[in-house]
Amino acid sequence: MKSAAFNFISPALLLNALELQTQYPNYSKFLGGGQSMGPMLNLRLAQPDQLVSLQRIAGLKAHRLQESKLFLGALTTHAQIEDKVVPDVTQGFMPYVAANIAYRAIRNQGTLGGSLCHADPAADWVSTMMVLDATVHMSRLGANGNMETRHMAVSDFMLGAFTTEIHEDEILTNISISAFPPDAHWGYYKICQKPGEFARSIAAVLSIESLGVHRIVVGATHSKPILINDAKPLLHSCDKGAIQVTLREHGLEADDFEFQNHVTAVIRAIRMASMPHSDPHH
Ligand SMILES: Cc1cc2nc3c(=O)[nH]c(=O)nc-3n(C[C@H](O)[C@H](O)[C@H](O)COP(=O)(O)OP(=O)(O)OC[C@H]3O[C@@H](n4cnc5c(N)ncnc54)[C@H](O)[C@@H]3O)c2cc1C
Repeated sequence: MKSAAFNFISPALLLNALELQTQYPNYSKFLGGGQSMGPMLNLRLAQPDQLVSLQRIAGLKAHRLQESKLFLGALTTHAQIEDKVVPDVTQGFMPYVAANIAYRAIRNQGTLGGSLCHADPAADWVSTMMVLDATVHMSRLGANGNMETRHMAVSDFMLGAFTTEIHEDEILTNISISAFPPDAHWGYYKICQKPGEFARSIAAVLSIESLGVHRIVVGATHSKPILINDAKPLLHSCDKGAIQVTLREHGLEADDFEFQNHVTAVIRAIRMASMPHSDPHH
């Protein structure tokens, strides 16, 4: 099937992109890397009157290090993270995750911001950014025509499957990530039927003793990934029974098969985090 007809425009300025969005208030969509939007258009699951491509807006592709925070433009691609074209402040965690998203053609085009806005619970960045406690930064036009910005933690941004806090007239501009101190340990494990496919389960683990961070995120659930903030006992014991109880307490909805996948992913991610060299890229 081919997409329905739409007006396509690719402005060079963020302000213009925001203004253009207001011209088709009923149905205009932003386009990032097009890796989710493309299939949705072709299947006619999305039929916008207008697509506003963000690809020519240089600021959305930029990055900067500010004190101990890395700000990545929303259009940073998975491949740029994989290849460390942008700095890695996560001791190999983000490049590892990026390298295991789909296959290279998707990673060349798909963007970090697009993945978060699309909010597939099985998307790798959704769980990863939650365990990193990353922040999303958004811009929109205010009533007086001035640009307004706001930011929030990714765990608040994510509302459920394919649902986020972003408004139709808002652009996700940056994602900020705190640099790991030396005592950070991470683990990431996803269960896929075949390499390159969306995950059946994702477990992301981050432990930073000096900051009191002991976090687990379980993704590829039916809704928003599950965030366990006080996971220190689980990270120490890796006890299967305790993991099962904790996942149930945190409201994980899954049939027996899915539940077993999630438990297995958590155990393997915890084990990975406990290994001295968890970055296969080094
Ligand atoms: C075959 C295939 C396999 C895949 N496998 C995986 C996988 O294993 N793991 C995984 O995580 N992902 C996977 N993906 C998804 C891929 O990572 C996409 O890149 C991602 O979901 C969307 O990013 P995008 O930049 O292409 O966004 P787009 O497709 O351009 O947009 C997606 C949505 O986000 C909105 N949007 C995009 N950017 C912005 C912005 N800056 N501000 C506001 N709204 C915005 C769009 O309006 C649209 O609603 C796969 C995709 C395909 C086609």
